[in-house]
Amino acid sequence: MNKAFDSLRVSSSRLRADFDALAQFGATGDGGVHRPTFSEAHLAARAWLREQIEKAGLELRVDSAGNHSAFLNCAIKSPISNPQSLTLLLGSHLDSVPYGGRFDGALGVLAALEVVRTVKEAGVPLTMNLEAIDFTDEEGTLVGFLGSAAVAGRLTAEHLRQPRGGRAALDAGMARAGVTEQGILNAARPARSIAGYLELHIEQGKRLETARTNIGIVSAIVGIASYRLTFVGRADHAGTTSMHDRRDAAQGASAFVVAIRELVIRDFPQCVANVGNITVAPGAFNIVPASVVVSLEFRAPTADEFSRLETALLERAKIEAERFGLGLKVDFLGKHDPTPMSFTAENAFIAACDALRLSHMPLVSGAGHDGQMLVGMCAVGMIFVPSVGGASHSPREFTEWQDCVNGANVLLQAALQLASHAT
Ligand SMILES: [Zn+2]
Repeated sequence: MNKAFDSLRVSSSRLRADFDALAQFGATGDGGVHRPTFSEAHLAARAWLREQIEKAGLELRVDSAGNHSAFLNCAIKSPISNPQSLTLLLGSHLDSVPYGGRFDGALGVLAALEVVRTVKEAGVPLTMNLEAIDFTDEEGTLVGFLGSAAVAGRLTAEHLRQPRGGRAALDAGMARAGVTEQGILNAARPARSIAGYLELHIEQGKRLETARTNIGIVSAIVGIASYRLTFVGRADHAGTTSMHDRRDAAQGASAFVVAIRELVIRDFPQCVANVGNITVAPGAFNIVPASVVVSLEFRAPTADEFSRLETALLERAKIEAERFGLGLKVDFLGKHDPTPMSFTAENAFIAACDALRLSHMPLVSGAGHDGQMLVGMCAVGMIFVPSVGGASHSPREFTEWQDCVNGANVLLQAALQLASHAT
């Protein structure tokens, strides 16, 4: 890296002006935004982004999955140093969860744009192109990681057939945005065209705040699995069947729910498990529950813990079912494996934090992010900045402005480092 650019910094005031302008799209009046994918507010925010990209003199690119990019062709034209003209991606997402906060995703997109603008103005010679990208539907109002999965070539027609937001919502959204299913499926980029993907995001937890640390360098994104467990008992008269004679599905399911908290805290301190729904049938005051369906989700940072936790949870369900004389039906609903981040990206972030004299610590992301989709295709790295009180997916979401600027400067310096290496 050319030493002359070590002192390069983003413009705090320009980034702030963008941030405040963007927060008006879908503003809910309480500090939050309501900007679900392809809603009018989301599309208006994207129209605004297109204007900013053009105003900055950057090349506007919109792909067939609706991903929006500010592209800067700054690769040194040398067939030896850069035969394929690789691109380093920086980005996040402009869509929000329903009635969410104004930092989640928005900060990452605007910081990426600011980094590319800063590099362009300074005329930094790089060996790669830079691209600030706003991925479509990260939050999953429609599909989830739609834009990044499309770029990575991971989406199939099957994924779009029954998306989590429902097919009708996807059809209506695509029509509003002028995007088609075929377009989404055709948005894959050649694997060798992307050198890396870096993202700045708010932490959405309070580990950085508690540790009074400036920057979290993400070491991995947790794996997530979901199961539907059905505890099967027998319906009986709740008044005439003795307590000993019952095969009460609610007892076994409840024992399981209580037991897993202790199990995870004791044996899997890096992991979490959640029962987000419990349905009792037939569901009457005077009938012993015949069956209980439990929605189980769990998350782990490493493949080893992920598989051991899965075994331990299912084993516990079996034990509790047997203890209460119940049957157990296990339905696997799907999973994303834990995703380690790239060492190259982590090291670039560490060097950037050290140069900027910012404290940093490694963190595992308990939430999913677009980077997961790109792992395997390129070097992926993420940093977090502190969320006040850990609040996120809420209008209470807040990050101190200096922390936002710190994150953008770390992104800038890490990008300069990675994009100035010979490819
Ligand atoms: Zn986000």
